Amino acid sequence: MNDKNQEIVRGAFREYYFKHSSQVEMPQDIAHREFGYMHLAAGMTRHLSFKSRGEVMAGLVREVPSDVYCSNAIYRFPTLPMNEKQWQGADLIFDIDGKDLDLPCVPSHTYRVCASCKHVSPPSEKEYACLSCASKKAEHVSIPCSRCIDGSKKEAKRLIDFLIEDLGINKSSIRLYFSGNNGFHFHIDDESYRPLDSPARSDLVGYLSGIGLMAESIGVRKSPGSDLAFVKFPKGGLDYGWRKKIADRLKIDATSAIKLSNRIKEKGFSAFKSEVDSMAREAGVRIDPQVTTDVHRVFRMPGTLNSKSGLTKKRCDIDQIDSFDPFQEACLLGDSKIKVHLKTPVKFSLKGESFRISKESAELPAFAAVYLICKGLADAS
Ligand SMILES: [Zn+2]
Ligand SMILES: [Zn+2]
Repeated sequence: MNDKNQEIVRGAFREYYFKHSSQVEMPQDIAHREFGYMHLAAGMTRHLSFKSRGEVMAGLVREVPSDVYCSNAIYRFPTLPMNEKQWQGADLIFDIDGKDLDLPCVPSHTYRVCASCKHVSPPSEKEYACLSCASKKAEHVSIPCSRCIDGSKKEAKRLIDFLIEDLGINKSSIRLYFSGNNGFHFHIDDESYRPLDSPARSDLVGYLSGIGLMAESIGVRKSPGSDLAFVKFPKGGLDYGWRKKIADRLKIDATSAIKLSNRIKEKGFSAFKSEVDSMAREAGVRIDPQVTTDVHRVFRMPGTLNSKSGLTKKRCDIDQIDSFDPFQEACLLGDSKIKVHLKTPVKFSLKGESFRISKESAELPAFAAVYLICKGLADAS
């Protein structure tokens, strides 16, 4: 980011931390967390520690980091190097990222920023080649649309279901946030998960995503040496967890052993198994496995700004998820006018305002100017 862009973004971010300090949520056991700052000029500082809300906020207003992170882990000595921190446990966290969902709308709002000359090419179905220097390498920048957000919401709702129905987590312990760009973050306030080590969290991710779910778990066993199977439903029944999800999709219940057995006879065990696999993929949640399994991660702090967009990592009430509009509710930067030079025609909506800009220069409210600068699609002029 050039100096002029940094100055504009820094000004808007500082104003946010002054005016909207109440948005920033402090973690429990604040003095035992590790904090990290990403800087606008590039580079990351980790192993920071604060004793109080006042100290955190003073740091944000003074340093104006581009991104602020806090450990999900609790440490005895958060400022020491990792192997001396003395890990005491970590909150359970999840990350749903719209870019991992393979949504069909994405190519229509993905801009390509050339890796060598930084020229921006507008969305196109054609194979990429920079219009200015013909380079084939580019950074992909997306302006998420409402369909992207609906896609992430669908995953988030599925995860909420799993957490409550399958894991028995109390609804009031689930904190849901818009990530500040194109997805949702979950923080689970349930201390019983804190001691889980990385392999245990990895098992949990496997369960939630339905990876490696076996036909055996609903009582279907391949007969040795043939493509037939033997059906014996589990004693515990088919009415909870994955067994229920698969049974519902197969439209069977505990009385359907013969019906299922005939069905497998018709299509063969291999075909049945791949049917169950694709049902499991469809019913599972697409979460980032690395985020959940890393017990030393610093994770974006609730209520802080995301430098990929200038939007806030904003709390979303899980009962209001359908009506939650992040482009409205997480857009909290000011609206003083800022002149920008646009690198490409763009369209987007923020704070209830639709922007469709094809001119090379424009005067925009700060929240929109910062959005485009953060995306690399405009420069402050
Ligand atoms: Zn180029
Ligand atoms: Zn989209």
